Amino acid sequence: MSEALTRLDAMSEPSIFTRILQGEIPAEIVAETENVFAIRDIAPQAPVHLLVIPKTAQYRDVVALAAGDPALLAEVVDLAHRVAAEHADGDFRLVFNTGEGAGQTVFHVHAHVLAGGLNEKSLGG
Ligand code: 5GP
Repeated sequence: MSEALTRLDAMSEPSIFTRILQGEIPAEIVAETENVFAIRDIAPQAPVHLLVIPKTAQYRDVVALAAGDPALLAEVVDLAHRVAAEHADGDFRLVFNTGEGAGQTVFHVHAHVLAGGLNEKSLGG
């Protein structure tokens, strides 16, 4: 991201996930590492529906995250695996809605972890 865009981002409103992380909006943080945290989705689409979110709001979607910090993307996947094992049987579907047309509504990258008796025909997300 260019310096100008980074400055613009810093000036914009904090994302809903940053506000949750800062305790401004209530949510149970079900797991956390130094760089990543997980919460339950407020509108679950599966028996277990968690969101795994980098603490930084620097990356708007998974494409930007993969390009800018692949190690952080790997941390997201690792925490997704951990919470799927803790909250279900360890099998999970990982969904990154990417772009408005794909249903992304929060432009602070996050992974949907869908688990626990998934209907095989459902695409989830
Ligand atoms: P997206 O549509 O951007 O892929 O996913 C955003 C997700 O955030 C949605 O599944 C939505 O239900 C969830 N969400 C939005 N606001 C809140 C909130 O205040 N708390 C929690 N726990 N989840 C939220």
